[in-house]
Amino acid sequence: MTTEQLNGLAEDVRNQGYNPSASMKDLVYDPVSGEFKQIRKGSTADEGEVVTEMTRKGFAAAEPHLIACLREDEVRQAEELLHERDEVPAYVFRRDDDVIHIRLNPEEEVFSTGFFTSDPRRLEQDPVAFHSPDTVILVENGEAKVFLQDGGWKEAELMLIPSAENMFSRSKGILEVGVLRDKRVMIVGLGSFGSQIAIELAKAGVGSFALMDFDRVELHNLSRHTATVNDLGRLKTNVIEEAILGKNPYAKVDKFPVDINADLPLLYEEVGRADLVICATDNNTSRFNLSKALVEKGKVGIFGRAITRAEGGDVFRYRPGGPCYCCLVGEGDLQEEEITDVASARRDGRIAAYVSPEDAEAMVQVGLSSDIEPICNMMVKLALVELSRGRESGISSLDGELVWDYYMWANRRERHYGNWKPMPSAGGMPTILRWYGARIEKEEGCPICGKTIILDDSVEDAGADYTGLSL
Ligand SMILES: [Zn+2]
Repeated sequence: MTTEQLNGLAEDVRNQGYNPSASMKDLVYDPVSGEFKQIRKGSTADEGEVVTEMTRKGFAAAEPHLIACLREDEVRQAEELLHERDEVPAYVFRRDDDVIHIRLNPEEEVFSTGFFTSDPRRLEQDPVAFHSPDTVILVENGEAKVFLQDGGWKEAELMLIPSAENMFSRSKGILEVGVLRDKRVMIVGLGSFGSQIAIELAKAGVGSFALMDFDRVELHNLSRHTATVNDLGRLKTNVIEEAILGKNPYAKVDKFPVDINADLPLLYEEVGRADLVICATDNNTSRFNLSKALVEKGKVGIFGRAITRAEGGDVFRYRPGGPCYCCLVGEGDLQEEEITDVASARRDGRIAAYVSPEDAEAMVQVGLSSDIEPICNMMVKLALVELSRGRESGISSLDGELVWDYYMWANRRERHYGNWKPMPSAGGMPTILRWYGARIEKEEGCPICGKTIILDDSVEDAGADYTGLSL
């Protein structure tokens, strides 16, 4: 049904004098008669689609609907302050259609101002002569009411943004929300992987983040990244901080727009502070540096990557004492250059000399966002399982499934997965679009984790001596 048709139907409802709030009946549209008819509330069925709620909230509403969003903790804070003074400034930082967002402590540019007060008489005073605010928040006994100036004061419908402890209460049972709030996750690399994972972990209620990436948002990132056109040229650390705070305004975000390979003392220090590290960089040098830091600091790390054009990818979980990233890929790769651009792909011989520049460019593309998503999702799940370890919750029960440290996923039957069979006829053979786990053995002679490591708490030493960690 088009909006026009619905508006027309709503008009009919008004003409019939139907008052949904006073009714014991619901309203359904009867396609046979082409009219609305009333049915007894709760009766079901084949009588048509119930439209009462829609009518009540939307099309039949004569008055425009004003909505004001406020933070619960700031209402409490304002009420505290009102013990000492008559009014406390309020700031409108967003106004869109009939919706305003109000802050006591704004971080963004302010659109207009108002004030919190506990004295209702303030609403009776002439706003122009008095203050010319267009927003007054009346706070009494912990309750807030928002009034907007629109040819007289009009009360807006209040949408309270819950306080930190209630922000993720809906995830209770599935996630250990109280536990996650106290966890610190370090994310190295904020590309198509790191950006998505950061936001997923923020949505899950992780309370503290260390973000590491020196890159800025470029045009070619947009199709796979969470950044928008309006973020072009911005540091990814700033863009992702904003995205995290958009999901959880109480999260703590520390930003490090640096090349971790060039600042190993910082890397070691931050790994030491984190509860878990997401390794979402695109080169092996940083993966090995991270791996060494994880082994030395005894921290859990989740590594993830996509294979050329995201035809597939893999995820690796490091747990202290277990096999490390070097045990997985081998020492040889320490020297191997990552294929992140055409030049390195040609040098490596993976793109033959006769391949045209356009085709070569396409071959090193990271692939579709929807192909990267399943890999990110597995990294998020593993991270949440690790962060919730030791507590009973829906997510921690996945520990029974996620028993391996290495997982493989294929998106398309191409190149690496060229001989895999289509899913319906694969029999016992591997297919695409399914996770496979693999048991990884710890390498006896692993240069990173294989030998005794003398732990040294001095960060400077650890960074300076990182090449000689295995003693
Ligand atoms: Zn190892």
